[in-house]
Amino acid sequence: MRTIAVLNQKGGVGKTTTVANTAAALANAGKKVLVIDLDPQAHLTIHLGIEPSSIDAGVYGVLTQSAKAVDAIVPVRENLSLLGASIDLVGAETELVSVVGREIILREALDTVKDSYDFIIIDCPPSLGLLALNALAASTEVLIPLVPHFLALQGFGKLLETVSIVNQRINNKLRVSGILFCMFDSRVSLSTEVRSDIEQFLENARSSNFAWSGAQLIPVYIRRNVKLAEAPSYGKTIFEYEPECNGAQDYKQVADFLIGT
Ligand code: ADP
Ligand code: MG
Repeated sequence: MRTIAVLNQKGGVGKTTTVANTAAALANAGKKVLVIDLDPQAHLTIHLGIEPSSIDAGVYGVLTQSAKAVDAIVPVRENLSLLGASIDLVGAETELVSVVGREIILREALDTVKDSYDFIIIDCPPSLGLLALNALAASTEVLIPLVPHFLALQGFGKLLETVSIVNQRINNKLRVSGILFCMFDSRVSLSTEVRSDIEQFLENARSSNFAWSGAQLIPVYIRRNVKLAEAPSYGKTIFEYEPECNGAQDYKQVADFLIGT
């Protein structure tokens, strides 16, 4: 069982698209998958065709300990289940502020269900607050989606530092496993420049014992593909919406890569 936090404190880098479609590809390949929507914007929940107002307990109920994970998880496709986001998730960070051990509530909840899944994939909010900390505390891996443009690495140091602190203080199993290029456009030479910057950075960390010393640039780049942007408004994964498009091919390859590593 692997738990993967898909994390980048920037919005619009492809986190939710990656979670929805990688999870769908893994489920299609016969893996048992749970996805968790930790973003109060509930984009993942909507992407999978579930109305946030129809979520009874969801991840909010689990974090506030008013629901058990097993009761809050809903099946959404064959082999694919969702712990969804409802609108009240917005208030969770402030409501939990005086709860002792608030960073590890999700981890404890998942301990009770994780044996039912091959992969648990967590869609993180675009911040490094309590919700993201819960994701990191519960995960074995961090996958960082990145759009290779000129500000791509801005904030990257802060992101790795947060992972590192969580690794030292609350979760010694946590590793940054990979960086995934999203919305890749090979015609833009900047993409290639950002790629060599990242490769250099990862290479320099190899001999360290940082949580990201084993990280690699995933050898599949998610190409810019308008079908990936259209699918969520139909509540469909890319494999339901346009199974032959570039986006579907790319995410299938990401799933194959994860299965193989
Ligand atoms: P995040 O969760 O990091 O905020 P999203 O996955 O929601 O990012 O992606 C941001 C926007 O870009 C969304 O409208 C999404 O549909 C679109 N998008 C994501 N990946 C691609 C892609 N490879 N090609 C085109 N559009 C994409
Ligand atoms: Mg998102």
